[in-house]
Amino acid sequence: MKAKYGTPALLSLALYFLIIPAASCHAKEPARTEFVLGTVCTVNLYDKGTKPVYDEIFARLKELDTTLSANSETSNIAAINHNAGISPVKASPDTLKVLSTALRYSAKTDGAFDPAIGPIVKLWNIGTDKAAVPAPEALRNALSLVSWKDISVDEKEGTVSLAKKGMRLDLGAIAKGYAADEVALIVRKHGIKRAMIDLGGNIFAVGEKANGKPWIIGIRDPETSHGEPIASLPVVNKTVVTSGIYERFFEQNGVHYHHILDPKTGYPSDNELVSVTIICDVSMDADALSTSTFLLGTEKGMALLASMPNVEGIFINKKRQVRLTPGLQNTVTILDPRFTVIK
Ligand code: FAD
Ligand code: MG
Repeated sequence: MKAKYGTPALLSLALYFLIIPAASCHAKEPARTEFVLGTVCTVNLYDKGTKPVYDEIFARLKELDTTLSANSETSNIAAINHNAGISPVKASPDTLKVLSTALRYSAKTDGAFDPAIGPIVKLWNIGTDKAAVPAPEALRNALSLVSWKDISVDEKEGTVSLAKKGMRLDLGAIAKGYAADEVALIVRKHGIKRAMIDLGGNIFAVGEKANGKPWIIGIRDPETSHGEPIASLPVVNKTVVTSGIYERFFEQNGVHYHHILDPKTGYPSDNELVSVTIICDVSMDADALSTSTFLLGTEKGMALLASMPNVEGIFINKKRQVRLTPGLQNTVTILDPRFTVIK
């Protein structure tokens, strides 16, 4: 399930192009889409969207991919992983920021959210054509390498070290959120008041629509990897991020295996949820929280959100029941009658 903009946002884009002429020496550019961060990233700048600004945004996204990717052999994360159990590694400012935040969420979730999950992610290979259920012994060995408590960040030296050989950082649950925040920074730096940033479903809606109304964000059907929105909500200057079981998965012998992994068992997290959507001001927090609350389940996840200011969530379970945090009670519209809001 991914958040999608509803029709009104698209309509407003069309009108905007018709009415407002480009105001700078550079021609107004249409939205740009590129494959970065292992996903499809689309940025739509509704005013002052010139080629140099789009170039700056996508150069920054590529820089973040090059630095933070667990999949590349040459990233800063790969350098840290290669030196696991050997020595500390100089970490980029981006790595330090994302990893420090990730570790805060590990502490908040009692280790359910764990950026040291890499050895398990690698074993399952979910999202690749090699995805398969790992052998129990391989899983046991990999699990012994997964602990956020074995990650040391030395802010003063600017280094990161992993205590055991074979440990692997994976920031896949949080880095897209950070990237969306970085894009929003660039957008605001250029005085752009309206923009839609969509990094593989990780949404940042900057400002409001040209007519002064909120953006309408559609929440996609959590039971398919495509399809129509099942709910919608209005947002102004907010990020909307979803984690769910139909984002990345494979099936083996009729069993559905998804990519949000329980660091206690090494298996995909198995609870009542199919998806959690987080709405807040900072996309890195929304990304970390969507994965964290998914792992915690509805009750503990709702309690975690209640402990944080200005954070709202939509929890959808396997019975198609929707639980909303208090701030969303009057703002979410259910579009698909198969889904019902429960208290
Ligand atoms: P989220 O719920 O936000 O995160 C789920 C992901 O977090 C899992 O895929 C896993 O990577 C990790 N994870 C699983 N369990 C836990 C846990 N308990 N605690 C913490 N983290 C957990 N994909 C590719 O296929 N190829 C690429 O080259 C590639 N490059 C990438 C580069 C970067 C910089 C980033 C940020 C992502 C990249 N990805 C790539 C995608 C990545 O592998 C994840 O699949 C993706 O980020 C998942 O995001 P999500 O929002 O769907 O799910
Ligand atoms: Mg996440």
